[in-house]
Formats: sequence, structure tokens, C-alpha cells
Amino acid sequence: IVRIQGLQKSFGGLEVVRGVDLEVERGEVVVIFGRSGSGKSTLLRCVNMIEDPTAGTIEVAGVRLGGGHRTRRKRRQIRQLRLHTGMVFQHFNLFPNMTALHNVMVGPLCAGQGKEAEIRTRALDLLDRVGLADKAGEHPIRLSGGQQQRVAIARALAMHPDVMLFDEPTSSLDPELTGEVLAVMTALATDLHMTMLVVTHEMGFAREVADRMCFFHEGRILEEGPPEQIVSSPTRPETKTFLDAVL
Ligand code: ATP
Ligand code: MG
Repeated sequence: IVRIQGLQKSFGGLEVVRGVDLEVERGEVVVIFGRSGSGKSTLLRCVNMIEDPTAGTIEVAGVRLGGGHRTRRKRRQIRQLRLHTGMVFQHFNLFPNMTALHNVMVGPLCAGQGKEAEIRTRALDLLDRVGLADKAGEHPIRLSGGQQQRVAIARALAMHPDVMLFDEPTSSLDPELTGEVLAVMTALATDLHMTMLVVTHEMGFAREVADRMCFFHEGRILEEGPPEQIVSSPTRPETKTFLDAVL
């Protein structure tokens, strides 16, 4: 459902993504990990066109896009592509002036997806799914980091994405709050069979939930495979060095 082909991204003279080919099947969970600055966030940001690729193509649910000028046709395709992707960031990025419920409702409301009452019912249902039914009326400032991130996940799900993109969703959380977010993500994978592309260094989650792990190094996928193989017997010295540091 996701096909990345020959993806490159440079900022000025700095080559950040240097030739990535990656396919994600429907229902698959792919974990990307690697050193800070290796280009992981840039890769994810290209997948939903927050960044325009310098070269190569991105295809999500049949919408295929490359680099080049944002013509009117391209902007329309980008909107389409974003309808298929939900993104969850490291720093939650909730709307601070809205309640948890309104944060989850605002996307579908703006997209005109049905009547307000239906959108509200579904939003409450999603908050319940992430364990926050009782926090619907709270503003983000009154929620813990873990709770905010779970609202952010509910907000992304409200748009019925085909693919969820997670960029280090737990790395700004205290360890005791990390678990509740990982539990929600695990349930998404196992109960809903959600297709997920996850940048994370949570190796326990990766081992348990990922179908495939990709070690990202200097803008490329240096090594990929099933978690047990990547974690226990990586073939590349760079992967081994990195795993020794995080495990
Ligand atoms: P981290 O683990 O710290 O989040 P990362 O693997 O996600 O790192 P990126 O955020 O993709 O790495 O950044 C890769 C490189 O690209 C860095 O050197 C960064 O400074 C540079 N970079 C990212 N975004 C931009 C931008 N908009 N303009 C210029 N340089 C950028
Ligand atoms: Mg990053």
C-alpha cells in the first residue's frame, strides 16, 4: 500500500535521504531505526509530502507523487495522499485551545465527513479506544504527555487513514508513560491490523509487533529483515554498534 522508489532528499548541498526503496504491504508494521540525524524523520515527512522529494517517487494507496513544482494537479494529489495517511509526531502537536474531543473531531469536521453528531460519536469512540473516554472535555495542557499522545493517535485515526506514520512517538515521554502509548499502538496493529510505518528505538515493541525492521544509516536502509534476525544477528557492523548502544 506504500511504495517508495529511489527516494532522495537534499537540503541545499546536504543529502539527507540518499536512495531509499521501501514497500509496505497492507496490514504490515515496519519499524525504522537508526542514529540521530540519519534522515528518518525526513523520510517519513516525504511519505506524506510535508517535504517534496528531490528525486524518486512516493505512492500511497494508489496516489503516486514525485518531486517538482507544486502545480494545481500536484496539490490536489497531495491532499488525496494525506487523506490516506495519519501522522503522529514526537511532540504530539495537539491544538492547545481545543479540548481532547474537539482535537479528534476537527479533521473530519473540516473535511466535511458527515454530520457533526456522527463525527462526535465516532470521536468519543476513538477516545475510548485509546483509553481516554473520561478526558474528552480536557484541554491538552491538563493532560499528561502520554495522554496527549494518545489523543494525537485518536485524532489521526479519525480521518480513516490507510497508513499510520509514527515519528518517535514515545521519545519525549517519561518511561512510565511510554508503555501506555506503545500499548495503544500494539492494539492498533493486532486488533485493527493497521498498516504502520514507525520510527522508534523501542526494541521491545519492535520485536513484539514489527513484521520487518529497517536499520537506517546515512540516508539509506543499510539492513532490513524480521525483528528476531535484525536484533539478534545483524549482519552489518553499523547495525550491531547501534543496537549495542540502545539495548
Ligand atoms: P533524529 O533521530 O534526531 O530525529 P533523524 O534521523 O530523524 O534524527 P532528520 O530529522 O531526518 O534525522 O534530519 C537529518 C538531517 O537533515 C539533519 O542533519 C538535519 O539537520 C537535516 N534537516 C532536516 N530537516 C531540514 C530542513 N528542513 N532544512 C535543512 N536541513 C534539514
Ligand atoms: Mg527524527
